[in-house]
Amino acid sequence: MKETLQVIRRGKGGVTLIAGGTNVIPDMRAKAIKPAVLIDISRLKSLSYIKEDKKKIRIGGLTTVSELASSKMIQRYAPILSEAANQLGNPLVRNRATIAGNLADGSPAADTAVPLLALDAIIITDRRKIPIDQFFVGPNRTVLKKDSMIKEIVFAKANSKTKMSYAKLGLRNAMAISVVSIAILVEIEGGRCKKARIGLGAVAPKPIRAYGVEEMLVDQKITGELIEACCEKVTNEIRPISDIRASAEYRREMTSVLLRRLMAQVCS
Ligand SMILES: Cc1cc2nc3c(=O)[nH]c(=O)nc-3n(C[C@H](O)[C@H](O)[C@H](O)COP(=O)(O)OP(=O)(O)OC[C@H]3O[C@@H](n4cnc5c(N)ncnc54)[C@H](O)[C@@H]3O)c2cc1C
Repeated sequence: MKETLQVIRRGKGGVTLIAGGTNVIPDMRAKAIKPAVLIDISRLKSLSYIKEDKKKIRIGGLTTVSELASSKMIQRYAPILSEAANQLGNPLVRNRATIAGNLADGSPAADTAVPLLALDAIIITDRRKIPIDQFFVGPNRTVLKKDSMIKEIVFAKANSKTKMSYAKLGLRNAMAISVVSIAILVEIEGGRCKKARIGLGAVAPKPIRAYGVEEMLVDQKITGELIEACCEKVTNEIRPISDIRASAEYRREMTSVLLRRLMAQVCS
């Protein structure tokens, strides 16, 4: 690990890391990237783990998406992450793809980013700790420096007041990049919402939080009326585009539909 970081630094930003390679290899084949130096970090086993301490879950950057999907700890404390992992790509891709690779690639549709936004995750690199809502900058752009490496992703364990739900809409059930994906996490106390986090994917130039909707929910009793107001509000918070998968209008409509569905689930 220490040696790897020294080699990366010696490259002075001219180095491209490759973990599972499920983004890097297709990008190289398509000539979208032409790395001068590739460093394969896939065998850094010290970065592949899922651990818990008293209050937090810690995931090593090289943990694969299939390990996330099958982890009992993730299923228990962060079921939205487990569900998102289960729906990423196909079994072959999930066996190679890593959580750090998914985040560092910076796709607006990155499937693990959406639940991690709702979980308020912190991305830990060799240099600093980055709250996930400050990590993404734009399509395939993040704040990560070229000679930096994601070591770990950390978030708080859910408690008995936490409820969460996740949905991914693609054009088919497997091997589909998200048209819209959404994760919601709320803490309900005495019938009122004390905390709300909503992560959204594929509806803006980067994975985003719906801050306006979250604010509407805090300290409120979640009624049918409030849910409708949130579903209206969320359409003002997103900036979807039309592409080969869906029109901007369809994405806008479906964001509202999925939010309504998830809010009903967490309030039931
Ligand atoms: C057929 C197919 C289907 C797919 N379906 C989906 C899908 O449904 N949803 C989805 O979100 N994605 C999907 N993807 C994209 C891809 O599988 C994921 O983004 C995956 O998690 C990338 O992880 P990786 O380890 O393969 O990354 P790599 O390709 O190895 O790397 C991706 C980027 O991350 C950087 N990187 C890797 N590890 C680190 C690290 N530790 N620190 C800093 N930078 C790092 C690399 O330099 C590179 O820029 C699909 C890809 C394919 C080929």
